[in-house]
Amino acid sequence: MNETPRFDAYRHAIPDTLMPRRDDPFDAAVPPIYQTSLFLFDSYKELEDVFAGRSKKPIYSRGDNPTVQLLERRIAEMEGAEEARAFASGMGAIAAAVLAFVGPGDRIVTVRHVYSDAFRFFEKVLKRFGVVVDYIDGTDTEAMIAALPGARLAYLENPTSMVFELQDLPVIAEAARRHGVVTIVDNSWATPLYQNPLALGIDLVIHAASKYLGGQSDTVAGLVAGSKAHIGRINSEIYPYTGAKLAPFEAWLVLRNLETLPFRMRHHHEAGLEVASWLDAHEDVTNVMHPALGEHAGKRTFSGFGGLFSFEVSDRIDVANFVDALRLIRIGVSWGGPESLVVPAKAALSISPETNVFARFGVSDRTIRLNVGLHSAAAVISDLEQALLTARR
Ligand SMILES: *Cc1c(COP(=O)(O)O)cnc(C)c1O
Repeated sequence: MNETPRFDAYRHAIPDTLMPRRDDPFDAAVPPIYQTSLFLFDSYKELEDVFAGRSKKPIYSRGDNPTVQLLERRIAEMEGAEEARAFASGMGAIAAAVLAFVGPGDRIVTVRHVYSDAFRFFEKVLKRFGVVVDYIDGTDTEAMIAALPGARLAYLENPTSMVFELQDLPVIAEAARRHGVVTIVDNSWATPLYQNPLALGIDLVIHAASKYLGGQSDTVAGLVAGSKAHIGRINSEIYPYTGAKLAPFEAWLVLRNLETLPFRMRHHHEAGLEVASWLDAHEDVTNVMHPALGEHAGKRTFSGFGGLFSFEVSDRIDVANFVDALRLIRIGVSWGGPESLVVPAKAALSISPETNVFARFGVSDRTIRLNVGLHSAAAVISDLEQALLTARR
């Protein structure tokens, strides 16, 4: 990467119109948690007007809840979307967004190494309903475009979250539009601060808010953002009937943690790059998979980077001993919170290729995924250094 990515902590400062205190009788600085399942009506007329869509008001919290709606509006604003919908998890958002657009006999084009449970959703659930899924090397733009004609949906993840392969979003989005293919991008890694897929022509954006948006490892939540028409279809066809709504308290946790997102992301960006560069120069590291490094560097669509990436160790390093020698860095599968974490691909590769995307599409058993949390780069590097030394055969 030649140029230093731009960082503007205040680009996405919460707009005044969304500040909750405007409607709050006590001028509370922080929005209330509407911990209620139902909302009351003063009259037959009011109820009928709301049912008929003549006036707007929440009816029941499996549909709308004001605390959850505040989060939905903020994410829509940050992604430049007309609307957003929150879910109980990232998978809830993924399943609803996909189910709203595919039916029996339809074909989905996706990337190999797609998020492992999205892969299982495709293989275990959608296949039972006759949906066909093509897994393509997302870095091969021509192959992606060649797969589009006749497909219903292109499901992308930029970058993928184990081997960090990139897709050329503007080019794929343009081709998809020509062929009438709906496009979805999982943007959990870059967050709305560092990549806005809708501005690149993509139809729908997914967030696993369990990761950076929540940012504290205390919440599982998901969102999908897009046009009024696309979100409207998710709302009318799927959302109320699969029931994966977000709890008001968890929406509140994500809202709270959004306030620190720019500051956390600046740290993940800077510390992640510093640790990745250090690993890149280490004699026992053979490959660093970070979207800022190497031939596929993603200059075009990112204004900054997440702190999650992978690297491969040389065969002089015993993977299990390396992982066990880490002290500051813990072993754990999620990411985006304060903890620095590793996941060794080797541990997952024993799962059958039927249900394991990494075994199916070839991830080296020397691959280690690293989440650079809120620790200093120096602290993470010194832990990696001592563990690499300890694990050297
Ligand atoms: C974790 C994750 C998801 C799923 O989110 P959940 O909230 O765990 O359901 C989706 N995509 C990516 C890239 C993830 O890392």
